[in-house]
Amino acid sequence: MNDIRPLLRRTAELASDYLESLEQRPVFPHVTADELRQSLGGPMPESPQEPQEVVELLARDADPGLVAMGSGRYFGFVIGGGLPAALAADWLASAWDQNAGLYVGGPSASVVEQVVRDWVCDLLGLPADASIGFVTGTQMGSVTALAAARFRVLERAGWDVGRDGLFGAPRVRVLVGAKRHVTIDRALRLLGLGTPEAVAADSQGRMEAAALRHALAAGEGPTIVCAQAGEVNTGAFDPFEEIAAAAAEHGAWLHVDGAFGLWAAASPELRGLVRGAERADSWITDAHKWLNVPYDSALVLCSDPEAHRAAMTTSASYLIQDDTGTVYDQVDWVPEFSRRARGFAVYAALRALGRSGLVELIERTCSCARRFAAGIVELPGAEVLNEVVLNQVLFRFDSDERTDDALRRVQEAGDVWMSGTTWNERRAIRVSVSNWQTDDHEIDLALGSFRQAVQAPAHVPAR
Ligand SMILES: *Cc1c(COP(=O)(O)O)cnc(C)c1O
Repeated sequence: MNDIRPLLRRTAELASDYLESLEQRPVFPHVTADELRQSLGGPMPESPQEPQEVVELLARDADPGLVAMGSGRYFGFVIGGGLPAALAADWLASAWDQNAGLYVGGPSASVVEQVVRDWVCDLLGLPADASIGFVTGTQMGSVTALAAARFRVLERAGWDVGRDGLFGAPRVRVLVGAKRHVTIDRALRLLGLGTPEAVAADSQGRMEAAALRHALAAGEGPTIVCAQAGEVNTGAFDPFEEIAAAAAEHGAWLHVDGAFGLWAAASPELRGLVRGAERADSWITDAHKWLNVPYDSALVLCSDPEAHRAAMTTSASYLIQDDTGTVYDQVDWVPEFSRRARGFAVYAALRALGRSGLVELIERTCSCARRFAAGIVELPGAEVLNEVVLNQVLFRFDSDERTDDALRRVQEAGDVWMSGTTWNERRAIRVSVSNWQTDDHEIDLALGSFRQAVQAPAHVPAR
């Protein structure tokens, strides 16, 4: 252990070097997988190597294949960066190396998660007594929440899914918006609930409440409805007030996928977009996206703690679990057994931002998205495809070829990076402003990059 301090000091230097390089380095690396295999690969080493040498070589050899995702110039997918306090707390979580499955695996890790629950329910306007689980991502959040949903809707139909499984169970109907995220489908598949029924969505990807009412009326039995706060391309919100009312009338469980969009609830300016979502039975949201906590980190919350726990609890004679209800054993609320103490980094992010910092982060990135949208339509042939209600901009040029060509040129230039998509059968480009560092300067850089791209001599014939 005598060597640990120089090693960690040196590692902090390497990490800082990398973070400082984010300002200049091309956002996406110019390297092939073969080149990386060359430098990182080789036969399994036969003998030990000094830790500092291992770390030096790893930093050197991995560097050419790193994407500057933590930079304010990265607009791909919906990513977010790492707030300094969250990054530092994440290091501590590794150093402390608690097994955050049980209270006895680390009391502070357990208590911090409960503190985060109180803060998040306050910030997002969710019921103060909601239960919480800390998971790897919204994907596993949906698995957890929909397992709770499955338990409860079948229990109401007189079926104990924990004891008797799904064979012979009443059929569970699952209604989802046509533009739900793919992770909902995978969660349902893993839970044995099959392919859901898609309810029509409008041009922005919002579930149509009238279509949901119609679908609910057309069937009966145990029912789950999955709604969405923040469509991954447009940032659009489902109409929660109407959806919550319809779900309640039919005794359906309402689950909300708010991977990034749920954070709008923290902002007085944007809160109206999520009104009604607080009436749901379960919610999921990522900490590693808009909250800017390092990967991987997400929260699942449930207003029916009994169903949540019934779906996830586990016990074995060698475990020391608390059954007095005074402490919180994380293993009862998530699919994982042994687990990283993810709560520390989320706690640090929330403390570092404070309510005002969080609101500023959310509102600034949304304002950046509006600035980008206003700027991009100045370019010839550019068209914004979404109502820019949040931090997402979806746009295209006047042909699929021009759209793909402009995106390719911008990606190659390396000042900024964003990804393409297909929207209503046409090629489009997505901009997600999710990084805590992004400001007008980075938006203007992105606009400048597209201006150059469309002014360059065309390789493709105009249509
Ligand atoms: C990103 C995203 C997900 C998946 O979240 P992970 O954290 O990657 O598992 C689900 N739904 C929406 C709307 C998303 O944007």
